Amino acid sequence: MTSASVSASAVSVFEDAVGALEGGHAVAFPSGMAAVSAVLDLVARDGAVVAPSGAYSGTRQLLADLAAHGRLRCTLVDVTDTRAVLGAVALSGAALLWAESPTNPMMGVADLAALAAVREGGARYVVDNTFATPIVQQPLSLGADLVVHSATKLLSGHSDVVLGVVVARDEPVAATLRAARRDRGATPSPSHAFLARRGLRTLPLRFERASDTAAVMAERLGAHACVERVLYPGFGTMLSFLVHGGAAAADRFCASVRVAVPATSLGGVETLVERRARYPLEVEAGVPANLVRVSVGVEGVDDLWADFEAALSSARRLSGSAGST
Ligand SMILES: *Cc1c(COP(=O)(O)O)cnc(C)c1O
Repeated sequence: MTSASVSASAVSVFEDAVGALEGGHAVAFPSGMAAVSAVLDLVARDGAVVAPSGAYSGTRQLLADLAAHGRLRCTLVDVTDTRAVLGAVALSGAALLWAESPTNPMMGVADLAALAAVREGGARYVVDNTFATPIVQQPLSLGADLVVHSATKLLSGHSDVVLGVVVARDEPVAATLRAARRDRGATPSPSHAFLARRGLRTLPLRFERASDTAAVMAERLGAHACVERVLYPGFGTMLSFLVHGGAAAADRFCASVRVAVPATSLGGVETLVERRARYPLEVEAGVPANLVRVSVGVEGVDDLWADFEAALSSARRLSGSAGST
């Protein structure tokens, strides 16, 4: 076997595994954004796209850039409001509906099966399933045409990979994506595909552990005096919460954790916390200044809670001394 065939097989072994999990034909890309970009390339020139106002910020940025260059038109909607989404798709004659559920970081839940009605009007229906993973939902079985993942996140699970994947219901669409990948030179890294495939072996275990912990953390945070509100969809490994004391208290919380790690990204074995409104694009999307997004890892729940409690008391001392709410 030549090294080229070994390399090619690392990618196709990963694709076969994700294709089996999502129930379609998988095509890997060098990053989640490369996968997003390849799907948006399927839209004809000046075609209309409807996407969630709470979509992943990188996706919103790309859509805004493409719209600014006259490549496509884009309407942002509240994806949890099915009637609003269907209305926007009909009104714009959309070629593509982009959905995400739960949304990031507000944790809104869309009715993915109901949104599949857009296919009757000829729109292609795409779901970014990065947050939920096929453990929670398989969008192709709910009527989607395409599923997108940042495999950088939960699928790989160890914060050491950058990789994306698109899963198509129909093989001809997968073939189109493969040809575009070749032509654009968007070749995924075999070593990252190998690591992602290895990570996939423990996806159910990691997901179950982190989900159980997330449920406990959501409940405890909800009962904590320093917490204004918890946003938790009731499943999965992601949650957000609003800290009393504004942005400064949320920043203090993130700077004070010792078990969790203050960082962007999500879906790794370590719990990550981030005040999302530090990014202008998130402020634009209406993300509260005092919101902390939590990607729950696989640590012991009591270690993690003790860490959060200590960091919340640091945040409270700050909000107390600043005299804010
Ligand atoms: C991170 C992320 C992406 C982009 O993936 P990269 O691998 O970082 O390029 C796309 N969608 C969602 C929901 C994400 O969280």
